[in-house]
Parts: sequence; C-alpha cells; structure tokens
Amino acid sequence: MTAIESARLFDRACAVIPGGVNSPVRAFGAVGGTPRFMVRAAGPYLWDADGNRYVDLVSSWGPMILGHAHPAVVEAVQVAASKGLSFGAPTTGEIELAEEIVRRVEPVEQVRLVNSGTEATMSAIRLARGVTGRAAVVKFAGHYHGHVDALLVAAGSGVATFGLPSSPGVTGAQAADTIVLPYNDLDAVRALFVERGTEIAAVIAEAAAGNMGAVPPDSGFNASLRELCHAHGALLILDEVMTGFRVSAAGWFGLEHVPADLYTFGKVMSGGLPAAAFGGSAELMSYLAPAGPVYQAGTLSGNPVAVAAGLATLRAADRDVYARLDVAATRLAGLLDQALDAQTVPHLVQTAGSMLSVFFTGTTGVTGGSVRDYAAVRATEIWRFPAFFHALLEHGVYAPPSAFESWFVSAALDEEAFGVIAAAVPHAARAAALASQPA
Ligand SMILES: *Cc1c(COP(=O)(O)O)cnc(C)c1O
Repeated sequence: MTAIESARLFDRACAVIPGGVNSPVRAFGAVGGTPRFMVRAAGPYLWDADGNRYVDLVSSWGPMILGHAHPAVVEAVQVAASKGLSFGAPTTGEIELAEEIVRRVEPVEQVRLVNSGTEATMSAIRLARGVTGRAAVVKFAGHYHGHVDALLVAAGSGVATFGLPSSPGVTGAQAADTIVLPYNDLDAVRALFVERGTEIAAVIAEAAAGNMGAVPPDSGFNASLRELCHAHGALLILDEVMTGFRVSAAGWFGLEHVPADLYTFGKVMSGGLPAAAFGGSAELMSYLAPAGPVYQAGTLSGNPVAVAAGLATLRAADRDVYARLDVAATRLAGLLDQALDAQTVPHLVQTAGSMLSVFFTGTTGVTGGSVRDYAAVRATEIWRFPAFFHALLEHGVYAPPSAFESWFVSAALDEEAFGVIAAAVPHAARAAALASQPA
C-alpha cells in the first residue's frame, strides 16, 4: 500500500498545524511512518487519500459504534442541518437526548450537554468542588480525562503514548490539588482518605480504564471507591466518556451497577459530532447555573446537529447492536490471540467489556494473569507494537496507532471485514515476533 498522497498532505499540514494533526495520537508518533489522511468512511471501512481501504478498529476513538455513515444518523444530521445549524436557544432535541441518557443510566437524573469529554470532566470537577467546598481531586495513574489542566498529571492516552509525566503549561498550582494514586490499589485509596479525607472533593476514575489500553477495575474496586468517598463526604465521579453507551446500553454502569455521584459521557453519545455530557442526581445538578451558583456554559452546547447525530446513534443502538459488539470483540480477541500464540509471542489480549487491547507481556510474568495498573502496562514490551501495527496497516487493518489505546469494534464489522482481519493478523503476529528491542 502506498502513502504518497498522505505523505504529501502530511507535509502540507505540518506547515500550518502543529505536528500536522489536531490531536496528538493521530500523528503516528509512537509507531512511526506517515499518518493516513482519510477521505471517506462507510460501514466498517475507511478510505485514505491514496485510495487504500482499511477495516477500522479505531471507530474515531470510540464514537462510531454503528459503523461509519450509518444511514439513520446521516439522515438525522441532514434533516437537522436543513433546519438551521445553531440557535443559541433551547431546542426539543436537547430534551430528547437528555431523556435518552437518563432512561439508560439509572443514577443519572439530569444531564448538562457540552462539546467534548474534556469539558465534561472539567465541569464535573468544578461542580464537585462547588458542592463540597473542598479542593483536592484524586485520580489514577494512566487514566485520561481529557486535557483538563488539573487532570493532565500521570494521564493516559496521548500523554502516556508520548511518555510525559504531565504537560508543560500546567502550573504547580493547577496540579497541586490533584492527587495521583495507582489504579486498582484500594489500600492506597484507604490510606489517603485516612490522612486527607476532609480535603477531598472527589475521586475521578474511568469506569473501566481504556486510555492505557483496556484495564478493567478489579471486582469491587469501583464499589469500594464509592463507599470510601461517601464515608468521607467526597463525591465519586465515574468517567464514562469512553465506556458510556459502548460496553452496554448503560455503559459500564450496565455491567457493574455501581452508582456514582456524577458521570461524564462523550464519544458514542455524540454520534461522531462534537457533543458530550455530564450528569448525576437532580440534587447535585441543581448546583449548576442558572439553577444554582456553579457556573458552566457553552455557545454551541446542545448544538442541534450534534444532538441529532447523538440521538440517532443512541436510538439505533439497540440490544442487537450491543450483542454484535460483544460478538465482534470476542471474535477479534480470538483472532489476535491465535495469531500471537502461533508465533509464540508472549501476550495478553485484555478486555473491558467490548473494548480490548493487546499487551506484549514478555517476561513480565503477567501472561495468563492480567495487567492491573499503569506500571504494569509500562513494563510490557511496547517496542513490539510499531511493527505489529504497521503490518496490520499494510494488510488493510487500521488499529490504534499506540500501545496505550483501546481497540474499538463496531456493529458494522461483517464477514468480509473479518476476512480482512483474519488474513492480516498472522502477518502482524510475525512482525511482532521479529521485532527487536531497541538498545
Ligand atoms: C476521550 C476521553 C475523554 C476526553 O474526551 P474529548 O472529547 O477527547 O475531550 C475524557 N475521558 C475519557 C475516559 C476519554 O476516553
């Protein structure tokens, strides 16, 4: 497969866009090579500027659970757009999307719509601080909550991909009230609450971590977080921007049924346009302006076109779609497992619901066990990933261009798409086996 046109576009982009991309992981920095410029997508496929077709296992980093350009979603967007792009006044669609979210996620009685997951977590943190009158926020290493200043400490996703402890530009003051703990380490959480319980406004956690690869919470971990928070007057914020409406109709809540105080959503509920949300009990949400004193706003929040895309996506995401996602994830995991076994590459295909990732476990001893925290993720043979990734790409499969990201299936993956995947993975496994550790 050639990438001549993508390379030309990347050069041109680099002249006017920092690093040539508008979100860092898109740049292929962790895997090398030329990022592919996409021109079209339909169902399970992406087409790049050189005319290459790929089976998409990134799904726009999560949103496209129905596959690309789903007819019902495209039609809803076209109808909404034809009626006007933005009013800066309330609309019926916003009520319908809020009702759909509230209907699906039992602990959520009210939601506020925003434009990105970053805004959702930023606003949820502000609300938690406003409600409790406390400053400190606890997060877990390797968890990513968007590029909120206070949460860019020991973060996953691109921050992990590029090996940054945090980001320049985040001041000591902004990070001072953020306490980072190792994931799945309840003793650390307990000890912290004993020492500083009265300072803690909230614990924020990905409901199941997906931004250091897929690392689910230990059984009972989220429930214990909730107990500890409540014993000390703190709020639990479960970030379901990635898991929400993907791993089940009700997101991770639908799998584990641990109610949090506040939730953040994005990705799937956006239908692929910029939309996100945060929500919780009516009592907590009543602290938000204009009902209450905690300020939060947005010129384009609840945008009618974005809301139409999100609503059409959620309405089409029925029981059958979630069943298909589960089947696709199991099938993909099986193919990856088999191919890597055949090449005797020590690995673990780890899942969190229908999200999954491949950890090259090497001699770290976690083969057959699980990778439970960020230190364990970093101890894996990440250097095998670029070769693995590029062999998949070369054979028409678009996987996430970083070992620190989850893979996202869509309900559009059909027999033909799985045929492409099945043909590609043996090449990728061989490439992973042949990869050599950099000196
Ligand atoms: C993607 C993501 C975010 C940030 O959402 P953006 O829309 O990229 O700002 C926050 N939290 C989690 C868990 C995410 O996966």
